Amino acid sequence: MKQKLIVLYGGRSAEKEVSVLSAKNVISATNKEKFEIIPYFISDNGDFYRVTDLSELMTNQTRDENFKIMPGDIYEDKAVVLPILHGPMGEDGTIQGFLEILHMPYVGPSVLSASSTMDKLLAKLVFTSLNIPQVPYVTALAGENEWQIIEEVAAKLKFPVFVKPSNMGSSVGISKAENVAELNLALTEAFKFDSRVVVEQGVVNAREIECAVLGNGNEVKAAFPGEVIKDVDFYDYKSKYLDNRIEMAIPADISEKLVHQIRTYAIKAYKAVNGTGMSRCDFFLDNENHLYLNEINSIPGFTQWSMYPLLWDNMGLKYPELIEKLVELAQSAFIIRE
Ligand code: ATP
Ligand code: MG
Ligand code: MG
Ligand code: MG
Repeated sequence: MKQKLIVLYGGRSAEKEVSVLSAKNVISATNKEKFEIIPYFISDNGDFYRVTDLSELMTNQTRDENFKIMPGDIYEDKAVVLPILHGPMGEDGTIQGFLEILHMPYVGPSVLSASSTMDKLLAKLVFTSLNIPQVPYVTALAGENEWQIIEEVAAKLKFPVFVKPSNMGSSVGISKAENVAELNLALTEAFKFDSRVVVEQGVVNAREIECAVLGNGNEVKAAFPGEVIKDVDFYDYKSKYLDNRIEMAIPADISEKLVHQIRTYAIKAYKAVNGTGMSRCDFFLDNENHLYLNEINSIPGFTQWSMYPLLWDNMGLKYPELIEKLVELAQSAFIIRE
């Protein structure tokens, strides 16, 4: 009998388009001999829709009200769920909590690993407590006096700085600021997306090294890291998804010592947040070979040209087998929670 696999995609976050791309790739790569794929589309207002056409996935533009369901109806499929939803309401523990309540096995992060890594400010506190190096930063909360934030930035950091909504991804809402005027604008932009904002020391000419982690509990593996080679100075949404201007070096051309250090930090951070299923741990490397952990993405991009599946491919685990492995991990995490 085929294993039923629900693919949840779309969603309410600003990363919904990336989710559609990831879902298309997951669906086309999944072994159909082993899995019966049941996609559900979550619209930008949070409604759930049954999707019948696997080749032409429903989107916000093509959604059909006749296929609208109650979210809890997905329970009836008795399936493993693969939430391929990036950003808030997908990668932050909310959908995971919903699936826990429905009592369904699901692929990827647990409530804790999703929520603790999605919030960049909280994740930084965890990394600090683990003695994992990261860039200096300033916390900015909505309602705080903007001049006080700027003063703190001036005292603690040097321009350029990166200003980020604490809960977001795909570079949405992130700006690089070279001076106080730009910092002001960057804060206003970031606060459009979240009430919690991070102002980070910019790493000049940062190399971006990413490490894929796979596993549950104590049985966790990290792949050889890869490098994102940018011809832009900042890997923003446009360069990530629209311009296709990203080249990847897999494995990254770095010393064995750094490879070891990166894999060790990635696994340490992953275990600390109850990493479940998968994560992509992103690092910066500066001109002097100093390493900084930037963030953990608990539902990384899953398009064919996304780093996460490519890093496993390099380890000999092909995309369809990676999906099978993730489903197995979902089932074993479910049994442990029972
Ligand atoms: P993702 O799509 O990986 O989830 P994100 O939206 O969570 O991304 P970050 O990875 O934190 O955001 O930042 C996006 C990009 O901005 C980085 O890949 C990098 O190019 C640049 N960047 C962010 N912070 C810094 C920094 N402190 N120094 C230098 N570059 C930075
Ligand atoms: Mg991220
Ligand atoms: Mg992300
Ligand atoms: Mg990132």
